[in-house]
Amino acid sequence: MGSTIFAEMSALAVRTGSVNLGQGFPDRSGPASVVEAVHDAMRAGRNQYPPGHGAPELVEAVIGHQRRHYGLELTADQVVVTTGATEAIAGALLGLVDPGDEVVICEPYYDSYRAMIQFAGAVRRPVTLRAPGFRLVAAEVEAAVTDRTKLILLNSPHNPTGRVLDEEELAGVADVARRHDLVVVTDEVYEHLTFDGHAHVPLATLPGMFDRTLTISSSGKTFSFTGWKIGWATGPADLVAAVEGAKNWLSYSSGAPFQPAIAHALEHEESFHRELRDDLARKRDFLCEGLEALGMEVHVPQGTYFVTTDVSSFGHADGIAFCAAMADRAQVVAIPTQVFYEDGSPHGRHLIRWAFCKEQDVLVEGLRRLQGVDLRAGR
Ligand SMILES: *Cc1c(COP(=O)(O)O)cnc(C)c1O
Repeated sequence: MGSTIFAEMSALAVRTGSVNLGQGFPDRSGPASVVEAVHDAMRAGRNQYPPGHGAPELVEAVIGHQRRHYGLELTADQVVVTTGATEAIAGALLGLVDPGDEVVICEPYYDSYRAMIQFAGAVRRPVTLRAPGFRLVAAEVEAAVTDRTKLILLNSPHNPTGRVLDEEELAGVADVARRHDLVVVTDEVYEHLTFDGHAHVPLATLPGMFDRTLTISSSGKTFSFTGWKIGWATGPADLVAAVEGAKNWLSYSSGAPFQPAIAHALEHEESFHRELRDDLARKRDFLCEGLEALGMEVHVPQGTYFVTTDVSSFGHADGIAFCAAMADRAQVVAIPTQVFYEDGSPHGRHLIRWAFCKEQDVLVEGLRRLQGVDLRAGR
């Protein structure tokens, strides 16, 4: 595997002095009380290896969160704390998938899925979410299933498209999983960042799905602490044990003082992500309107940090060429969505992903630089 596109585009942003609307991290930190809680934990001596399973108060806080938000009643063996959602994804794929197994994934897909499926020696079976609408069609999921399929890997709210799968789409996936006796791993790190009343529904809450669903989430996006890398996986004890079994040989454990602080966040700072969501919705609208005014076709997201635009009217061969021209002429960087598709796939060739989880003045400056610059090919 090469380096990640995010590292590449952030390096391009530094090299060209660009406004970086590529990598998805917020400019502003999460709640001050949570930062204080880390300091308190450090002073109290929480500086050695925490339990591989997770700090007990964080495990309890995740249980409380799943109960309050989704009515799911978990026991401690149905939760494992991980080094971000990234390690939960790695643990799930290394722990559940054997060489030669097949994994059904929604394309475009978050880039670590591709790496980890490859490291597990497994085979991707992509199902494409097509613009506009980016709907997941159950019949296409079904068509991707073979007798080698081990699991379906889902992500909702979806990065990069911003889709929040609705009840009909989730019911369709659940039906396929039940009939073919498949496990579903679902990445829900943007569970609280949805807009316009598009509520996130965990697949695990659908009838008969808890026992075959491993749900992954993280504090990074919910509380704007993406650098702390405190995540978790929840589900039936056997699936959680598979993640923990792999995780014991990855990080084993991490983030000793951050874990009690995130427990505090889950229990006392829920207003933070409600306000974050409303703030993101306003920034989404601002960026979407600005990009539309530049002549791009905008696919307005229902959740996440990201908006997708179609730039085919600018005449570049693909989104990589468009982004290179944009960094060069306007000093603005975004992510060519085609890197989240199978190589050579036509579906994402002219799509660009823009992050709006930035300070308002960064968005204003990004749009200001784009106005009055001719971004068409050959200029
Ligand atoms: C950011 C992100 C992750 C990584 O989460 P960490 O907790 O930072 O490891 C995983 N999945 C998706 C879809 C993401 O956007």
